[in-house]
Amino acid sequence: MNAIANTDVEFYREMREKSGQPIELCYHCQKCASGCIATEYADFYPNEILRLVQLGQKERALQCSSLWICSSCETCGARCPNGINMRAVIDALKEKSISENKVKEKKIHLFHTVFLNSVRANGRVHEPTMMAAYKLKTRNLFSDLGVGFDMFKKGKMPLLPSRVKDKKTLKNIFRSS
Ligand code: SF4
Ligand code: SF4
Repeated sequence: MNAIANTDVEFYREMREKSGQPIELCYHCQKCASGCIATEYADFYPNEILRLVQLGQKERALQCSSLWICSSCETCGARCPNGINMRAVIDALKEKSISENKVKEKKIHLFHTVFLNSVRANGRVHEPTMMAAYKLKTRNLFSDLGVGFDMFKKGKMPLLPSRVKDKKTLKNIFRSS
């Protein structure tokens, strides 16, 4: 089956609407890709991800590693002559990928989850409990112990979390996100 036969127009429309970006305007000049800091590790460059969406290539777009390697630096959007905010497109694809259980980079997704759980609980990250949760879930308890100990000695790994006082605002932020 060729690529055109697999076109999922509904997927294209959904990503267009959720991202709020004029995906159809991309003419693949590659200004985004040439400024992207993550291309060394990416399986698809930013403009290639947009091409997958334009062509309704849902499975390939939702399962690409680049969605999780992207650092949300927004360089691509700043360079685009057509004002396409690629980071917003990537966010829409990530949400869809999670909801359809298509995440390829599961460890990176897990790291995002434990990071956000820590912020949700304290209003800021508490590295020791966040890393303990990550290590437990990946069943990799003892790697990086040396680095952790060095950070502890430098005061970068406080034993007790520091919590924000305004819990109501914190709750509202997570409720609206
Ligand atoms: S810079 Fe904009 S128009 Fe050019 S390839 Fe990237 S997204 Fe498309
Ligand atoms: S936001 Fe993501 S895709 Fe865009 S330049 Fe930064 S790392 Fe690359």
